Amino acid sequence: MPLPRRAATVRIRRGQIHRVTAMPPPPQQAPEPAGLQLLLQPEVVAPNHPPPAPPAPAAVPVPPQPQGEARYRRPLVRLQAVPNEDHVPDNYGDGPDELGITPAVYQALERHLPPDLAGAPAEVKRYFMRSVLRNYVPSPSQRIRTQNQREYRERILSAYQPLHPELYTNDPSTFILPAFLQAINGNTEESITSIMMEPAPGVFAFPMLKPSFCQMLMSEVNNFLRWAQSANQRIMRPTSLDRHGRGAALSDFGLQEMLDNLMKDFISPMSTVLFPEVGGNTLDSHHTFVLEYGEADGARGFHVDDSEVTLNICLGKHFTGADMYFRGIRCGNHVNSGTHDEEYFVHPNVPGQVLLHHGSHRHGVFSVTSGRRVNMVMWCKSSVFREMKKFMTDFSGFCRECQFQRTARQVQHLQELTARISISGQESEDETP
Ligand SMILES: [Zn+2]
Repeated sequence: MPLPRRAATVRIRRGQIHRVTAMPPPPQQAPEPAGLQLLLQPEVVAPNHPPPAPPAPAAVPVPPQPQGEARYRRPLVRLQAVPNEDHVPDNYGDGPDELGITPAVYQALERHLPPDLAGAPAEVKRYFMRSVLRNYVPSPSQRIRTQNQREYRERILSAYQPLHPELYTNDPSTFILPAFLQAINGNTEESITSIMMEPAPGVFAFPMLKPSFCQMLMSEVNNFLRWAQSANQRIMRPTSLDRHGRGAALSDFGLQEMLDNLMKDFISPMSTVLFPEVGGNTLDSHHTFVLEYGEADGARGFHVDDSEVTLNICLGKHFTGADMYFRGIRCGNHVNSGTHDEEYFVHPNVPGQVLLHHGSHRHGVFSVTSGRRVNMVMWCKSSVFREMKKFMTDFSGFCRECQFQRTARQVQHLQELTARISISGQESEDETP
């Protein structure tokens, strides 16, 4: 297969300056960044079933204000990190309440309440604990979506016969290349980065999976799609962007546990080293899918992923075209800002090669010009980082525009300081007899 145009790459060690030379100019067909999309995991609907009834408004009633509640205003509720093991929790009934919170959760949380609240009546404590837990309890519509997804997967799993049962093993290390396994087992920054290239700043390329795994996975997905067609089972699109091409979410037909382990054992150690600024060390869920594109399917538009870290593996087959392009990492506030020349990179999709990058690294894929390309994409997410992000306003740890604004603020502050010192110096001179 002729190798598509590519940027020259240099081998890197973390901490050195990354140099990418001989970059081709942006090709004519590169779309402009206006209207960049956040690529999302599609919402779950119940295939072959009528849509669920919309959730009843205000399904969760606000409990009556308990007596004496004024003594325990919300600002007092700051959970203690260290639980009071000597505290004997109250009784919170036999089953879950209307939020789905079980008595065991209330009892466990009660040990974290501040001392001035620990002795309050049970209903007062429950009221405040609910105000904390409410932020973490799925909304009624989320619960319906989760239930729909569970039923959708159960229907598939009860009928679909896997072609390669060995793929469903819970030990993905059998699919991993020895050199990669050794690098991960080394468990140091040096051992992990020693097997990697960095073709663009923040984009890491390396061999990881055995060719036999790539072949098996492609034929398993094909088998699944053929089965779905013959069984008249409607398949959910893997993402909001991919209206063309063929594809499927891998957890829908039983690969969830194997992929959980792949993320935990192999992707998390890399992300901990390479992407700590976006919760690379706290990845705890993923959405993984396979996509097949041909000439007629067009380009995969300019977008950012719904992930903190994205793993993209080109599984095959034979194709030309389909280069990936990158246009800089941005936070949610600056996702539609312009691209600086030095942020524009093109990288070929090479069968067998894995790319690892920020989910917020803006990118797209050019059209396949001949043949068909198949990729597996894993969006790795960190619920901890997503929670922290709600309280953050400055993402200069990775966003170029935030860095620019921060520098501008520092320069302005310095200028003001200099002006103030100069004025006070002038005044001192004037006062000197
Ligand atoms: Zn920003």
